[in-house]
Amino acid sequence: MAGRPARRSEAAAAARPPQPGTALRQRLAELRGPTTTPHPLDARALAALAANPGCRRRALLDGAGVDKLALAQALGSPGSFGQSQFAHQRGNTFEARTKADGGEALMRLLYERLRDGSPAPEPGTTAVPDLAAFGPQGRTARTALALREATEAKGWALLDHPMVSLDIAGSPAFLEPDAVVVHPDGSWTVVEIKSFPMVDGSADAAKVGAAARQAAVYALALERVAAQAHARVRHEVLLVCPKDFSNLPTAELVDVRKQLAVTRRQLTRLTRIEEIAAALPEDLTFDLRLTDDGRTVTRPVDELMAAVETVDAAYAPECLSACELAVHCRARCRAAGGVESLGRGVRGELGGLTTVEAVLAAALGEAGGEGEAEGVHGTDSLAPTTGDPAVDALRRAAALRAEALGAVQTPSKEAEEAVKAVEAVCR
Ligand code: SF4
Repeated sequence: MAGRPARRSEAAAAARPPQPGTALRQRLAELRGPTTTPHPLDARALAALAANPGCRRRALLDGAGVDKLALAQALGSPGSFGQSQFAHQRGNTFEARTKADGGEALMRLLYERLRDGSPAPEPGTTAVPDLAAFGPQGRTARTALALREATEAKGWALLDHPMVSLDIAGSPAFLEPDAVVVHPDGSWTVVEIKSFPMVDGSADAAKVGAAARQAAVYALALERVAAQAHARVRHEVLLVCPKDFSNLPTAELVDVRKQLAVTRRQLTRLTRIEEIAAALPEDLTFDLRLTDDGRTVTRPVDELMAAVETVDAAYAPECLSACELAVHCRARCRAAGGVESLGRGVRGELGGLTTVEAVLAAALGEAGGEGEAEGVHGTDSLAPTTGDPAVDALRRAAALRAEALGAVQTPSKEAEEAVKAVEAVCR
């Protein structure tokens, strides 16, 4: 017992995320609004952030703890993002059922899937430490201590909703996995409980992929604590889902090594929040200026829109399933004629042509290199003429389309067809 306070402070130090400096904290508070409580980041949001590391807008808003859903609503562009209330409740009920009786069913599922020679977790012998503490920092420190003690005890332990932290672009994010299991050999397994069904051992690939990315974020956050506790985080996470549309839990181990590597790499590519903030006007804020009851936004939409547009975005169609601001960003991208709204693949193929207008002009030979307008007048011009592969490909496509339509048309008609052809691709 004499060593306990020292151990507590060690665990607290291990759990403590790098804190942003006072100046940065102050700046982030001003950005979200001085009286606004920071919106917490969850692993789902972090996985999405890691999937689009080039988006400074999202990095800054997330770093400042801005509620992006409320912001999107205030901008008049709410997306259909997130779970319905019903799905949320169903998920909570299933999770509670899975963890009932000290997590007996959960531990049995893990043991059955492991088959690695570990001793079976006998009913009633799994430790379930109390993780209650004040505030996210307190809960993170309490979790680190519980993980360390459970590892040293060399038995099975189930940590229900532990809290871990991760440094995101210089700002700490607190994360809450569904559960973490400590094995007798000192290794740790992340448990992810989802409400989508697993039929005959397999589930919707897209949903499993999203769950794996989320679990990888938890595993990444746990690695720092594990290093201090001389433990290791297993690279297989336990995905628990309802079995065949029933309420009974079933589970599979999912290897998240790839997701871990990608998330680790992407998070290091995020521009540091200080750097983004330093390049912005000092009086910039995303404060919605809510009324006292917190229900009505009083900030004019134009002002809010201008504030959002001050920060560069990197829109891609994938944003629609990952970010609350997607409808707004898509509308702005389309209004500016940006080819990003066509997808990253098309954007990459088009090289230096960044707007739909530039693409159409290049296809018609009005811009984009030598060989003016020949590209739409016949097969003679199907050979590359400009040295820019994107422009040549567009002109060939436009010419082929015009020819395929078999039109012995006037040049202006052909040009019209070419425009339609390119527009068909672009829209
Ligand atoms: S929707 Fe907008 S803010 Fe969100 S990630 Fe995409 S571009 Fe960035």
